[in-house]
Amino acid sequence: QVGTKPPPSPSPLRNSKFFQSNMRILITGGAGFIGSHLVDRLMENEKNEVIVADNYFTGSKDNLKKWIGHPRFELIRHDVTEPLLVEVDRIYHLACPASPIFYKYNAVKTIKTNVIGTLNMLGLAKRVGARILLTSTSEVYGDPLVHPQTEEYWGNVNPIGVRSCYDEGKRVAETLMFDYHRQHGIEIRIARIFNTYGPRMNIDDGRVVSNFIAQALRGEPLTVQAPGTQTRSFCYVSDMVDGLIRLMEGDNTGPINIGNPGEFTMMELAETVKELIDPAVKIESVENTPDDPRQRKPDITKAKELLGWEPKVSLREGLPLMEEDFRLRLGVAKKK
Ligand code: NAD
Ligand code: UDP
Ligand code: UDP
Repeated sequence: QVGTKPPPSPSPLRNSKFFQSNMRILITGGAGFIGSHLVDRLMENEKNEVIVADNYFTGSKDNLKKWIGHPRFELIRHDVTEPLLVEVDRIYHLACPASPIFYKYNAVKTIKTNVIGTLNMLGLAKRVGARILLTSTSEVYGDPLVHPQTEEYWGNVNPIGVRSCYDEGKRVAETLMFDYHRQHGIEIRIARIFNTYGPRMNIDDGRVVSNFIAQALRGEPLTVQAPGTQTRSFCYVSDMVDGLIRLMEGDNTGPINIGNPGEFTMMELAETVKELIDPAVKIESVENTPDDPRQRKPDITKAKELLGWEPKVSLREGLPLMEEDFRLRLGVAKKK
């Protein structure tokens, strides 16, 4: 017939097991701390092909060295503030510096990463029909007036402070996710991640667990920022990755808190690290940074009910695993 094209003949690959069952997964920020652990977990499943897009601002190829050259793995140097054309089924969108030192370093860039970066990944999800998960943060609750924080709480955030590029940036990213969902029917998932720790954290990125462990191993005083009574809840990275995958493959859009509800003051954390690594090390009080949230602890009722997820690794179990990794990287052997 004139004007009608014959249907494309089916690819010979169509009927192969490989074609039908493979899931192609993009991880932005996959060269970073949480991203690289997520890559490890997803690569364990032989049905997954993993593509990482990362600009190496705070991540490194070193975190992915065991996968480079693997036939199911691909690494792209790419900044998410630029459009990206790939064909995928799932997008884990993690790209964004997470440590205050790095996200404040170029605040305007942090906003661009959160806003333009998320917009681009949503545009990509829309074009290819992929499901997209955003790693948002407990920082969307700001300095919370509700404790512990439930997903219903709207937060107490300073819009013009030095942390705003990050916390307001993530709030806009969440808004964009929901607007693409409502307006274009995109399948979205939002995880609100609470403080996470484990091997491969940047040694000098200024976050409290990495600081204390590196300080204890170097025999330097542990710097507790005043007043030291502020609290955080620390989730071990393997639990975090498990929660993210359950959220992605489940039926709920979120936002869902993913974190460990065990709550510690920074002084208690310092005492624990001191006891575990070196009882001779000193603890000193130093000045804090502006807008530091005074308390933070996730309410994980939703994650338990909707994802069947709760953390398994306690702080006392996780800290030694991180110590081992830091000893190797810092070249400090364990005393006999
Ligand atoms: P990370 O800094 O180790 O990883 C972030 C990765 O994103 C790095 O590899 C970095 O190079 C990359 N990146 C940054 N800007 C980019 C850009 N414009 N284009 C492409 N890549 C870019 O941090 P992380 O701890 O692994 O955090 C991962 C995600 O989880 C982030 O979105 C962060 O906001 C969120 N999160 C982390 C924590 C935590 O405690 N680690 C807490 C809350 C939320
Ligand atoms: N985009 C992308 N990859 C794609 C499709 C879109 O990076 O495969 C970017 C695109 O450049 C745009 C953004 O995603 O800046 C939003 O795309 P959308 O189609 O939603 O909006 P529009 O292009 O109409 O502004
Ligand atoms: N903190 C500390 N000593 C340090 C680094 C951080 O006491 O060397 C405190 C900081 O004041 C904050 C808490 O630890 O109250 C967590 O800080 P981090 O930067 O790790 O995470 P976030 O503030 O993003 O939760």
